[in-house]
Amino acid sequence: MIYLDSNSTTQIDPAVVESMLPYLSGHWENPSSPNQGGRLVRRALEAAREQLASLLNAKSSEVIFTSGGTEGCNAVIESARTLLPHRMRLVVGATEHPAVMEPAMRWSRCEGELSVIPVDEEGRLNLEELKSVLTLGDTALVSIMWANNETGVLAPMREIVETCHEFGALIHSDAVQVCGKEQIDLKSVRLDFLTLSGHKFHAPKGVGVLFVSDRVRFNPFILGGGQEGGLRSGTENVASIIGLGKAAEFSAQHLGGETHGMIAEMRDAFERHILHHLPGTRAHGAGAPRLINTSNLYFPGIDSAGLLILLDEKGIACSAGSACHSSALHPSATLKAMGVSREEAGSTLRFSFSRFNTLSETLSAADQVCKLASKLRRLSDEDSGPVRMTA
Ligand code: PLP
Repeated sequence: MIYLDSNSTTQIDPAVVESMLPYLSGHWENPSSPNQGGRLVRRALEAAREQLASLLNAKSSEVIFTSGGTEGCNAVIESARTLLPHRMRLVVGATEHPAVMEPAMRWSRCEGELSVIPVDEEGRLNLEELKSVLTLGDTALVSIMWANNETGVLAPMREIVETCHEFGALIHSDAVQVCGKEQIDLKSVRLDFLTLSGHKFHAPKGVGVLFVSDRVRFNPFILGGGQEGGLRSGTENVASIIGLGKAAEFSAQHLGGETHGMIAEMRDAFERHILHHLPGTRAHGAGAPRLINTSNLYFPGIDSAGLLILLDEKGIACSAGSACHSSALHPSATLKAMGVSREEAGSTLRFSFSRFNTLSETLSAADQVCKLASKLRRLSDEDSGPVRMTA
């Protein structure tokens, strides 16, 4: 298989699995237990917290372990709603993941004001619109994703944070897609909250981090036994957290080394090959700063579901629509917000790379994409329109 779907989930690094095993088979004690075994597990857990803090340039006291990206985003929005009832407004970007968009919709159903900041045709957030909403002075929280899961388009996070703080608003970023792909330095980008998910950077699924700056208040979303300093109850998912710590350590190493450039080279070579050999093909978001690993390609006249199925049969994995959170092929909300028509969105596929890909497999996948897309195009030319296949 050639796996080009790393924005959905990444391959777990074998060394991460290795680091977890002792905490599944040997050190299974509860990190809150006041016995030798419990203390040993607690030390390992705190070491993992240090690894995450170091990756983010944050304090370990600002790192809360969670079950992943969805929980982190929900927790921050719910905290703002309960802590700041006099501030009615939640501000989000138009291309947010459902982990933010769904709690935002609930906010508006519960009599809060919701402002959705539009993006342009490249997926860039309208910063003027953000400023004009903030001048209303009633914003409890702004939540803007750092990198979009479908197009990879990056938000100018430092500028956004400064703008929010200038107007006295708290700012959260869903950084699930950016972690492991770009540096996150929270001493320089002074976010109040940030959400990460392990399975997007070679750690297991079902574990993540919520960063809560020690400058701000946070009302816990999950109440119970008071774990995680009382900010997130529930016995910690120890083995996965150990794996997350290891993955954070590897991320830091790779970000500082050659891997970053290698991934960019693979994505660029893949895109160049396809854009050159398939006339009319376009990369959504390519005119904006974007993640080095993401290629969101529009294949005019081709049904993305059909191409996805043919690629899958050849052992090439990629995504259509918002496939990272659905087995159904929904029209993409991100592309819609960018002004892309339903037809064009239905002819778009996302390819996303990681350090576990190689340049040669990437080029061979690009070649297959061209062959299969040309085949579908010929079939659709013989018919009257795109060949629609059911997935
Ligand atoms: N935010 C973004 C941008 C994502 O891509 C995802 C995962 O698809 C999530 C949030 C949700 O993360 P998790 O799967 O850990 O709940």
